[in-house]
Amino acid sequence: MEQKPTGVRIQAVRGTRDILPPESSKWLWMEGKLRDVLARFGYSEIRTPIFEYTELFNKGTGETTEIVQKQMYTFVDRGGRSVTLRPEGTPSVARALIEHGLLRRSKVMKLYYFGPMFRHDRPQAGRYRQFDQLGAELIGAPGPEGDVESVHLHVSLLRALGLKQFTVKVNSVGCPQCRPAYSNLIRETLGPRAAELCEDCVERLQKNPLRILDCKVESCRRIAATVPPITASLCPDCSRHYERLKVLLGSVGIEFEEDPGMVRGLDYYTRAAFEIHHGRLGAQSALGGGGRYDNLIAVYGGEPTPAVGFAAGLDRILLAVDEEGIRVPAGADVDAYVVAVGEATRDKCFSIAAWLREDHRVELDLGRRSLQSQMKAAASVGAKFAVIVGEDEMASGVLTVKDMTSGRQEKVPEVDVSGYLKRVLGK
Ligand code: AMP
Repeated sequence: MEQKPTGVRIQAVRGTRDILPPESSKWLWMEGKLRDVLARFGYSEIRTPIFEYTELFNKGTGETTEIVQKQMYTFVDRGGRSVTLRPEGTPSVARALIEHGLLRRSKVMKLYYFGPMFRHDRPQAGRYRQFDQLGAELIGAPGPEGDVESVHLHVSLLRALGLKQFTVKVNSVGCPQCRPAYSNLIRETLGPRAAELCEDCVERLQKNPLRILDCKVESCRRIAATVPPITASLCPDCSRHYERLKVLLGSVGIEFEEDPGMVRGLDYYTRAAFEIHHGRLGAQSALGGGGRYDNLIAVYGGEPTPAVGFAAGLDRILLAVDEEGIRVPAGADVDAYVVAVGEATRDKCFSIAAWLREDHRVELDLGRRSLQSQMKAAASVGAKFAVIVGEDEMASGVLTVKDMTSGRQEKVPEVDVSGYLKRVLGK
């Protein structure tokens, strides 16, 4: 008897999405390409938990950032501790390095991670509440060479996917020596216009004026644009670092634009900051961004260690791949479809398919469909061969193998079918 649905439909949470086939095969393709490049640059994978104690982000990402103030998925667990679904990956990497005693003076470490991040922001095209990032962190390299390697890696990852229409933006956000003077300059410039700023920015004017430069409120953005560029206020060390960074970027053939308004949305950056934007993604155009964070590890009580890194948004990178019309190879084709002629051979087909699967990608009918439907199914999954099993074949032990492209059929002894497929498929 046919059953009627009785339950209540439940939908995915707003801002999250399912990645279904064939879209999911694009993700596998992308991850494979990206992992190849990461290996070429000498990076190893680190996997950290997707939730952490909330103070990790409060202290690292920063109390005055949009992320911490407005976007975190924070809850009290059953043990009464406040935990947060990670909104970004760098604090976890820093925590893990300290926790496992991996920081060694003058030792360079290169780590990458893939995984979901969570931010409660207003969902729109290219912006989700759960999204995937690839992050790459270079630990222990103090000079601008490290910054350049990081930018170069990011650019190489995009190029490996065939992307071309992106722009690299760079800036320097100074250091604890020169930033206080710049913060004062922002206060002096914007103080008289405080009434025109949003509530958060009024607070930021006191606590962390630099954050006003990345406020999303349109009126704040307009007012922030009147602040003189930070690059004019850098201390001599930061200035030298920035100049050298630009020279070195040229030496590895990376074109870039300077964007003095780009201060990145996180508190821990020092000196180099960069973002990569795609020309065809509309409002959410940033594919990735990063910078130097020489003080973060010390904030967590670790031995002060220079570090630089970035996070790239994988959802948006795939949108860019589509926008540029890059052809993503489809998943591997089916080698053979085992076709049952008549009910009596179904069990035999089942065992033949199981055996062939040790070496080949094989499908068979699980729905008791007719011979004609099975041949159609074989064609629709792109099977290169059909292995046909009728009662005659079962009795003689010689199967019929049909080339689905040419239509040619051959008789092949059952024990030789796997070897035959290997030969004709060039395996
Ligand atoms: P951020 O460190 O915040 O600049 O994030 C790095 C990259 O992650 C961005 O350039 C985006 O590509 C991606 N990203 C950030 N937030 C989201 C989001 N809500 N949805 C999708 N991708 C995002």
